Amino acid sequence: MRVIFLGAPGTGKGTQAVWLSDKFTIPQISTGDILRKAVADGTELGKKADVVMKSGGLVSDDLIIALVRERLDQPDCRPGFILDGFPRTIAQGESLDLMLGRDGAIQSVIFFEVSEAEIVRRLTSRRTCSGCARNYNMISDPPPASGLCGSCGGRIIQRPDDSEETVRKRLQVYDEKTAPLKEFYNKQKKLYILRAEQPVERVREELAALLSGL
Ligand code: AMP
Repeated sequence: MRVIFLGAPGTGKGTQAVWLSDKFTIPQISTGDILRKAVADGTELGKKADVVMKSGGLVSDDLIIALVRERLDQPDCRPGFILDGFPRTIAQGESLDLMLGRDGAIQSVIFFEVSEAEIVRRLTSRRTCSGCARNYNMISDPPPASGLCGSCGGRIIQRPDDSEETVRKRLQVYDEKTAPLKEFYNKQKKLYILRAEQPVERVREELAALLSGL
């Protein structure tokens, strides 16, 4: 299975990708998680990405494409993978097609459809484990009162780019740069719409039904 989860930030792609990755034993490749780790580790990539990420902008296509190319070359990607947060521009989508070639091509692109008001509500109430990247939500799935992650014991934080101002900027960047990918994959007849504004379990059921029908 080689799938892309496409959609604005905060539409639940990461949550469903974790579940699907577990179910099919294929890696979830989240470029956001890879970049956040690089920032935490203080690598060259991390230093370049840090300022851009805090501002809500996009890291340069060249850097991201090189990063994904290297990741997809790892042996654990052979049985399949879930791309979560990549591609985010048409240039990234075109590079991915070239990278994979016809034999390894993406089979389906799942578009996570959620209204903007709901996205802002979800992102500004999101909290994230600084250790394992697990997400919590102050409204629907609050973290333990200790402030430590229930999965790994890591410290739970609000991502700097989840502040309301930066969320609005990220959504604007999404509209300009990422939304055109919907049409890009529609033309390739690979696009499937998932009604992702429903509760997590319902979205999971719909996703499972959708994938089993492919
Ligand atoms: P995410 O966790 O997917 O919301 O990503 C967090 C931030 O990482 C984004 O706001 C971007 O600054 C950066 N980022 C993640 N994936 C990409 C990508 N494919 N292209 C460019 N920047 C990215």
